[in-house]
Amino acid sequence: MSAREDFDLFVIGAGSGGVRASRIAAAHGAKVAVAEEFRVGGTCVIRGCVPKKLLVYGAHFAEDLNDAAMFGWDVPVKRFDWPVLRDNVLAEVTRLESAYTDTLSSHDVSIFHERAVLTGPNSVQLASGKEVTAGKILIATGARPALPEIAGIEHAITSNEVFLLERLPKRIVIVGGGYIANEFAGIFLEFGSQVTLVNRSDVMLRHYDQQIVDRLIQISVKKGIDFKFNAQIDRIEQRGGRLHVAMTGCDDLQADAVLFATGRVPNVEELGLDSAGVELNARGAIKVDEDNRSTVPSIFAVGDVTDRVQLTPVAIREGQAFADTFFGKIPTRVDYGCIPSAVFSHPPLASVGLTEGQARNKLGSVKTYSSDFRAMKNVLAGRNERSLYKLVVDAATDEIVGIHMIGPDAPEILQAAAIAVKAKLKKSDFDATFALHPTMSEELVLMR
Ligand code: NDP
Repeated sequence: MSAREDFDLFVIGAGSGGVRASRIAAAHGAKVAVAEEFRVGGTCVIRGCVPKKLLVYGAHFAEDLNDAAMFGWDVPVKRFDWPVLRDNVLAEVTRLESAYTDTLSSHDVSIFHERAVLTGPNSVQLASGKEVTAGKILIATGARPALPEIAGIEHAITSNEVFLLERLPKRIVIVGGGYIANEFAGIFLEFGSQVTLVNRSDVMLRHYDQQIVDRLIQISVKKGIDFKFNAQIDRIEQRGGRLHVAMTGCDDLQADAVLFATGRVPNVEELGLDSAGVELNARGAIKVDEDNRSTVPSIFAVGDVTDRVQLTPVAIREGQAFADTFFGKIPTRVDYGCIPSAVFSHPPLASVGLTEGQARNKLGSVKTYSSDFRAMKNVLAGRNERSLYKLVVDAATDEIVGIHMIGPDAPEILQAAAIAVKAKLKKSDFDATFALHPTMSEELVLMR
């Protein structure tokens, strides 16, 4: 830091990437400040992964309470109270926000609870008018839901508002075929809503192994989700107390809520990027190099605002690598290979490495192994829901290059299995591993 600068590092945005970079840079001895115009914690903690996962847990009780009877439990009255769950989840979010704030404070990171805008390569202006200078500036402003420009879009909600709904919608139309659409379709269905999922094509979760996705669709249809493929919303009208949704590709729909989950766009507007000389890429995200450096040498960016991989653990790794490289003298670059991911649908699916299609294109000769089974708990419960696990193996080297699963606890199981793929273990290593019986995950070492 030169004598004239207020901070070594000024971070704009206290989400997953910004908080990690701030904390680690401070731990390396830097004088750090962070500006956050909304709530400390960012999308993941405040209106993303964390509250969503709590709703997933809440939704799962619907199945467990149904299944309980076959295990001898008499559950006479089942009644779901949305405001109770909503308010408990919101209270937990507030607790976490305060924990994140404490973490920053305990690392002596100064927090400005206001918007910051770049005024040059080493300066920002806060909403209060105060001008602050810094040796380096990190932009970690994340992304927000994308909304198409259709008539009546103001009647729709996004994942930002879904956690705050006053009452549970009796009928909900969900638009999109990605993570958020499939997760909330499962959540609302289990809560008792009538769910229609509208997708513009007949491909959902297009980056996942389509055999696994097909299984999700099959189970979801059976559970009662009404899929409208190759369909789109033209217009939404408020008619009395309900929404009339005019469609192309299927009959018009009536709903109490319409949730758009059609991707997220980087938050780059009115940040002063132009005046500082920070360039955007073709997708409207901040252009960065492998060290998270923008086109201005003193300005960096991590997380969703760079639109590399829109996942919390990736933003955290990027924030850590940035802080270690520039404040800890530990040059670190994020390795984007082999990132595990999951969709917390009902049942959840999870994946790491190459899909069968990607492996065939990349490697040529590929072997696949699969296990299609009914989890023991589902059998006794009379739940006719089959899990599917799939291993993709490089035929030339025997290396496992991809694992794809759908079934109870698939994300929990896949996290451990992802280590094996990252470590380039072979199918023979899986074969040599004893099964842990009786589990679902033993299927991973029993495929022949
Ligand atoms: P996704 O990118 O997962 O899916 C977007 C969906 O919307 C796709 O089906 C896409 O179709 C469709 N779509 C895009 N534009 C339009 C349009 N104009 N009209 C109609 N349909 C459209 O986005 P999400 O919003 O579900 O989630 C955003 C991001 O958040 C994800 O990419 C993910 O990185 C992250 N996330 C991760 C979660 C997790 O890890 N479990 C959970 C939730 C979010 P098409 O395929 O044809 O392009």
